[in-house]
Amino acid sequence: MDSNQAIVLYPSPPIGHLVSMVELGKLILTCHPSLSIHILLATPPYRADTTASYIASVSGTTSSIIFHRLPTVSLPPSITSASRNHETLTFEVLRQSNPHVHQALVSISNTFTVQAFVMDFFCGLGLSVATELNIPGYFYLTSGAGFLASFLYLPTIHKNTDKSIKDLDTLLSIPGVPPLHSSDMPKPFLERNDPAYECFLENATYLPKSAGIIINTFESLEARTLRAISDGQCLADDDDTTMPPIYSIGPLIFSQRGGKGQDLDDVHECLKWLDSQPRGSVVFLCFGSLGLFTKEQLEEIAVGLERSGQRFLWVVRNPPSSNESVAIAGQSDPDLNNLLPDGFLGRTKDRGLVVKSWAPQVDVLNHNSIGGFVSHCGWNSVLEAVCAGVPMVAWPLYAEQRINRVVLVEEIKIALPMNESKNGFVGAYEVENRVRELMESEKGESIRKRIEALKSDANAALSEGGTSKVALVKLIESWNQVKAG
Ligand code: UDP
Repeated sequence: MDSNQAIVLYPSPPIGHLVSMVELGKLILTCHPSLSIHILLATPPYRADTTASYIASVSGTTSSIIFHRLPTVSLPPSITSASRNHETLTFEVLRQSNPHVHQALVSISNTFTVQAFVMDFFCGLGLSVATELNIPGYFYLTSGAGFLASFLYLPTIHKNTDKSIKDLDTLLSIPGVPPLHSSDMPKPFLERNDPAYECFLENATYLPKSAGIIINTFESLEARTLRAISDGQCLADDDDTTMPPIYSIGPLIFSQRGGKGQDLDDVHECLKWLDSQPRGSVVFLCFGSLGLFTKEQLEEIAVGLERSGQRFLWVVRNPPSSNESVAIAGQSDPDLNNLLPDGFLGRTKDRGLVVKSWAPQVDVLNHNSIGGFVSHCGWNSVLEAVCAGVPMVAWPLYAEQRINRVVLVEEIKIALPMNESKNGFVGAYEVENRVRELMESEKGESIRKRIEALKSDANAALSEGGTSKVALVKLIESWNQVKAG
């Protein structure tokens, strides 16, 4: 076997996307250990959680993974005022980085035969670079098939109306996805004149032009949706492109993210606390790497949790300093006594633990004291819950998470919906009821059974002969064929 063969991966810089892509690299190596994996790192557009310790640990443990930092680009100050969406910053970094991607691919090609260039779905501009250099370009979707279907369908929605999606106020019929209210589309899809909308629209058109789409899901989790996508049902009627192969290689999940100030060898205090709790009794509340709540919302959650009578483990962050609902700037640890209602910590100390800023989520979800998960529906969190067999309450906050809620509640049936009021606020009563319903009701029991079954399906998909393993082997074979052909 030619040991000079390489795959180049190009993640979008925010941590969730980066880690998912690196894990894809590791997965590829399990199947094809003689490959070298090159990862292009574009300038982070904003500082959320640090990726440095994660990158250092991968470099230290996996010598076949080589990181290439692309030259730093600078964002014009006007960009932040031109869009209400932080995704615009990411797109701008990626746009400016495109010439550097070209240089990096040329330079890697001097030493290696680059078999494939795998881009995050934000990095569509890279496809033209790959085509120019005659390298097959693939996309990697770090979210589920429900989102992929909606994303592929965006050009169709755009063509069928002159309005912004936010003004449609209608149920969208996206092939393979349960009826989805227009307001459930990701925030950057809502405003037709926003630069982020234009970037997503453009990127949606690149996907079908690639040599293949790799997606972090598995057949039996999203069978109907994956079929609709593969059949080309999500493409515009007048689009004569045929869908490239879809490779469902998931669930790809990873423990030990090494969050804020956390030493990877330490056992986190919350895991020790969980050891002392009864089996399946604790509800875990955690909202991704970026999720933030206002002080008023945190207080409502606290009151709801207290009234629910359930045991809980809750990750709390400082409220946003501006009107951003995501942590795009570095966050300091919260002062819990100041943030939460008077006496809350004392009154709940025998059945609840509040953790500041970050908890080792995968380890927590797999602890046998955990019985439920209130999640922001980030796709990594969803897959981690599936792999741990823990049912969810779906409380989306940003990105494509509102689509994920509909998929989890209506299609896969592994979550109960957290219902917000019109302004997005969730009252204590709703928190109390939903948490209790998850832990004590028949409905809760039914989604628990369903997610436990999916946990076994996930294991089967990844094992020898399973759908995800077969898809991975096919993907790698396709790389060999392209170069041979
Ligand atoms: N995570 C964690 N501890 C936290 C918050 C998040 O370990 O306190 C991890 C979580 O396990 C998941 C990732 O961060 O792997 C978040 O990814 P996801 O796709 O769920 O959401 P995002 O942060 O991208 O919105």
